[in-house]
Amino acid sequence: MFELNKKEGFMKKWGYIICCILIIGMAIFAGNYLYKSSNNSKENNVKLNTIKEDINIELEDNYSVKNDISIQTTTKEEKISPNAVLVLKKHYEECGHTIKQYSEIPQEFVNQTEEEFSKEYTNWTIEKFEPLEVVLIKNEQGLCDEHYVLKEEDGLIVVYKEINGELQIEEITGISVEYLTQEDKLKLEKGIKVYGKEELNSVLEDYE
Ligand SMILES: [Zn+2]
Repeated sequence: MFELNKKEGFMKKWGYIICCILIIGMAIFAGNYLYKSSNNSKENNVKLNTIKEDINIELEDNYSVKNDISIQTTTKEEKISPNAVLVLKKHYEECGHTIKQYSEIPQEFVNQTEEEFSKEYTNWTIEKFEPLEVVLIKNEQGLCDEHYVLKEEDGLIVVYKEINGELQIEEITGISVEYLTQEDKLKLEKGIKVYGKEELNSVLEDYE
């Protein structure tokens, strides 16, 4: 009886140990499995995200390409606005001056494209064509019309304009040469060349 009890006890003891080992083994296995599968899902998420980003980047690229195309087509079809300014630039070869003349765009050119407009202004080169500003330029021979010559006539200073190599009276001033120095009188005899309205006014003020 005692022998049997002892044997039973021995068996039970080993039974417990094997059970414990099995449980621990299963626990390790299950733990490992869970860890791996969670890692896998993380990796999958990362992959998914990068794929999404790739698609987004591709979409953005397509979008920007489309945008570029639309910008190009609009610049080609730019039309003159009713509020546009027309700038006529004349470059004079003899003096090198460029005279700008600003005006409102004539109504008949409103809504014209560059191609249509260039057919109207054949003598001019289009320097700038924007809806609100059209700039045309052309070369001219001779001097621009800002060249003045001061001379003395009947005791008064007279302003001449140099046009096509000839002097035309612009203004007979009331300024007498009577009290000017001999040097100034000599200069006036030869003719004092002045460029531009501003300089003309300041020179005349000096003689007043
Ligand atoms: Zn000039």
